[in-house]
Amino acid sequence: MQFIEALRLRSKLFILFMLIAGGLFSVGIMGTSYINAMKKNIDSLYFGSLIPITELNNVLEVYHNGLGNTVYRLSRSAIPKNEAQEDIENSLRSVNRNWQSYMSHFKTEDELLYVNYANSEIISINNYFKKILNAVEDDKLKSHKISVVTLERRLSVIHQVLQKLISYEIKVANYERKTFLTTYDSMVFQLGAILGFIILAILSISLYVFRSIQNDQTRLEITSKKLKIANKKLESASYTDSLTTLHNRRYFNFIYEKELKRTKRNKNYITFMMIDIDFFKQYNDTYGHVEGDYALKSVAKVLKDSLRRPSDYVFRLGGEEFGVLLSETDESHSARLARDICNAVREREIKHEGSKVNEYLTISIGVICCKADDNLDGNVLISRADEMLYRAKESGRDRYIITTKLKEIDVKKSA
Ligand code: GH3
Ligand code: MG
Ligand code: MG
Repeated sequence: MQFIEALRLRSKLFILFMLIAGGLFSVGIMGTSYINAMKKNIDSLYFGSLIPITELNNVLEVYHNGLGNTVYRLSRSAIPKNEAQEDIENSLRSVNRNWQSYMSHFKTEDELLYVNYANSEIISINNYFKKILNAVEDDKLKSHKISVVTLERRLSVIHQVLQKLISYEIKVANYERKTFLTTYDSMVFQLGAILGFIILAILSISLYVFRSIQNDQTRLEITSKKLKIANKKLESASYTDSLTTLHNRRYFNFIYEKELKRTKRNKNYITFMMIDIDFFKQYNDTYGHVEGDYALKSVAKVLKDSLRRPSDYVFRLGGEEFGVLLSETDESHSARLARDICNAVREREIKHEGSKVNEYLTISIGVICCKADDNLDGNVLISRADEMLYRAKESGRDRYIITTKLKEIDVKKSA
């Protein structure tokens, strides 16, 4: 059964189909052959066993009603001679036909002994009737010369002989019927047993194949579920920055395009903030790289906590640089958010002795906020935010600078 497990689903279904088709075909063939055998038995019973009895009864009937009756009426001169002659001739022909037919059936040695004896009796009584017929033909017969006693004695003898044969043939028919019924019962039993066995075998093999298919299905479902989970993990891993757990630059590229399209379509505000930690090189130099990483995580958390709408995105773009993408936020709201972020980072009070602007770690932000339209160039948006960041750094750090213009420089400084 292991080889079934190894097969592919299509092959399993094919095997199942072949099993059922083959099973039904063999059941059909067996059923037909058994039914044919039964039919033959029925034929042999009804035609083989009953015909001899019919023939013997015919012979007996002709002796009594045909020959016996005609000769008796002849002896009483109750029938014209030519009519009697015709009756006797016809009756003898009928007797001969039936008797010859009876004799032609298969007989055993023992049966032949008695049948030959009966044959001699038939010949004897037929000769008796032929004699009467000849006398009638030669017109020598005097009606009163026919002995009724002789006629009755002859008829009685042949009656006994034929009756014995008839009883014997009835016994044979009964015996054959009994044998047939026994054979029939055993045949029905055999047929039932074989069919039952075949059906059971087909069912159990089909069940096994079905189970195997079901197992395949379950395995497939489990594998595809695992695959889906793994894919999700992989996808989220490929879009997540491992240090800060913020979205990474890859995800930024993906979302930036999408948000740009969406805001362009809706002619809505789009805001991009470029964030950079102030004097971070010095921070690393003062506290070491591990502390530096910890500070990066803290800033990331502040950024995350500052943005609450589902359409607000924050990314770690690389090193100690972060990006914030907002939609449907006008200039004043964007400016307020940038200011809040600056304040929140400072208020985390991450000690930074190397900083030239504050005793605590600070950030600078460059912000561009404008209404999106079809002409808006995404690269320009980023470079303008970068420009604003540069200006924030230049003008003293720990601040944000926001612009709504894509070309000329129109700068607003944070307090
Ligand atoms: P500025 O105020 O002009 O931005 O000065 P800065 O020192 O922050 O500027 P700069 O870009 O020269 O230095 C950035 C530093 O950030 C350099 C590097 O040591 C540090 N840095 C970048 N990525 C990581 C990081 O993953 N972990 C840590 N600990 N430090 C990082
Ligand atoms: Mg930098
Ligand atoms: Mg820096």
